[in-house]
Amino acid sequence: MINFEEFYETFKECIECRKTLPESMRNNGFTFYASRFNDYKYMIILQNPLYNKERHKKEKTESTGKSIQDRAKIHQKYFLEWFLKGNREKRRGQNYRFIERFLDLLKSNGLISYDDTPGYLETGFFNDFYVTDIVKYWGATGDITDALLKHSVHHLIDEIINVRPELIFSFSTRVWDCLYPIGRDKFELSPIQGWGEIERHSDLERSVETLANVHGHLFRGKYADGIPFHLIPLIHLSKNARYNLIRDSYFNCLKEGLQNYPAIMQENQ
Ligand SMILES: [Zn+2]
Repeated sequence: MINFEEFYETFKECIECRKTLPESMRNNGFTFYASRFNDYKYMIILQNPLYNKERHKKEKTESTGKSIQDRAKIHQKYFLEWFLKGNREKRRGQNYRFIERFLDLLKSNGLISYDDTPGYLETGFFNDFYVTDIVKYWGATGDITDALLKHSVHHLIDEIINVRPELIFSFSTRVWDCLYPIGRDKFELSPIQGWGEIERHSDLERSVETLANVHGHLFRGKYADGIPFHLIPLIHLSKNARYNLIRDSYFNCLKEGLQNYPAIMQENQ
């Protein structure tokens, strides 16, 4: 086990990161939203930090030269800005509506507790959730290469091993594409609930690899000492807003996955 500072130093000095980083991302720097590994129950894995040139400039300037703890707070603030945008306006933003519904589902299943969503996001959220991006360097999503993702997932595995969350939510197809194979090898990650449609699929292994087939399903893995953890892969949240077709099934699938979770946790105790 290592602590966050050690992880941070290793990550900062990583030669492989530098080798795989596209030219356009070399001088952008990187983000992180935590400054400790301990005391987290849940983990959220995203693909890469939101990149907007103007915002990036402000965020980078503000965080330069700061301690790890202060930097994490600055990156948290910018992260939340994206969700809270529109929250006080008459018409609530899509991102806010997403996070509100997502957290509400977790709350109704007894995973977290709070009074109001904006208040929780600003005070409790980052204490309950270790939030991280597979690729921590800023850059346009289109510039993120498979090689960079494939390398960066090793840093993520270090985070999972050290944070030891009980339950992980991973977002987006590319995250699943690189997380599942390594998760299967390292943590014996496998689905634990009914398969519905894909149960009849002739090639189960291949269908698990496709995020659309497993969106919202509960997976189980185990740490090296045999202690189990769970993971729910989800389609990228922007897809939820963009495609009406999956809007309801997005949350229905997650609801099913979460409903099974408390019973399973009890079984393990
Ligand atoms: Zn690296």
